[in-house]
Amino acid sequence: MSAAVIDGKAFAAGLRARVAEYAATFEQSAGRKAGLAVVLVGEDPASQVYVASKHKATIECGMASFEYKLPDDTAQDTLIALVDQLNADPMVDGILVQLPLPRHLDEQAVVERIDPAKDVDGLTPVSTGRLALGLPGLVPCTPLGSLMLLKDRLGDLSGLDAVVIGRSILVGKPMAQLLLAQSCTVTIAHSRTKNLAEVVRRADIVVAAVGRPEMVKGDWLKPGATVIDVGINRLPPTEGKPKGRLVGDVDFASAAAVAEAITPVPGGVGPMTIAVLLRNTLVAAHRNAGVPLADGAL
Ligand code: NDP
Repeated sequence: MSAAVIDGKAFAAGLRARVAEYAATFEQSAGRKAGLAVVLVGEDPASQVYVASKHKATIECGMASFEYKLPDDTAQDTLIALVDQLNADPMVDGILVQLPLPRHLDEQAVVERIDPAKDVDGLTPVSTGRLALGLPGLVPCTPLGSLMLLKDRLGDLSGLDAVVIGRSILVGKPMAQLLLAQSCTVTIAHSRTKNLAEVVRRADIVVAAVGRPEMVKGDWLKPGATVIDVGINRLPPTEGKPKGRLVGDVDFASAAAVAEAITPVPGGVGPMTIAVLLRNTLVAAHRNAGVPLADGAL
């Protein structure tokens, strides 16, 4: 292996520490804590784990955490009414509705109802539009965290060739927008892309957000590329690993032999997502309370 392993866990810990510092000064200036409301509908076990860790991380950073757990059969009107209530609540700076919602609910309508000033997941049409227009706004956490790791590793990204594999609203599309804003030459690949390996081989930066275990192989990469593996996939259980091993969308061993730097799974992009959620909440809190925050402070 020759690649440097990008330590997302350490970077995320540093970001959380900065958030905690600024959360304390925010509380002094605003006379209240910055607050994050998380809404969970139903009993999905993975979502329950995510919501519990968001709650814990929010408290640890010195912010207020408001949890709303609604039953699986919650009506659309009830959920919309809760979003309206949180939009109007001055103690709430960020609203996160944990996705996916149970199938009887209209996810898009719920997300669209969130006040863009509190849209810490960056998924409302206003946030998405502002990102496309290059205006300040709240940006989805996973791609913003991935960009932070890239800038920390590479510095100026201007002029670099970037290939993003995946075009989801949550990861692929905002990632491509962020890289474009850094003046990368960006290609977005997806399930219909022809000769994917050849497309990937052009890239100085590869971001894989596909959801297919170990799909990107080392011989797809240009030597010296920087690889950000967003994928989180659990392999079937084996004797040694009864819960199944966690792997990314990149075949780590073969990729690490060719790349200059690569994020591991776990411990790469994953820890950045919650750290950026806390960062987004604090940025929203400053704007909502009219407390100045220096550009690039977080
Ligand atoms: P989606 O399923 O929404 O999107 C997957 C994308 O991959 C689609 O655009 C799809 O193309 C594309 N794709 C699927 N198969 C192929 C293929 N064979 N070749 C090329 N492209 C392909 O997933 P998400 O974007 O939500 O998530 C992607 C991965 O990132 C998942 O593993 C998820 O668990 C992980 N994730 C990790 C997070 C973290 O905190 N680290 C947070 C969010 C996600 P098409 O559009 O044509 O169907």
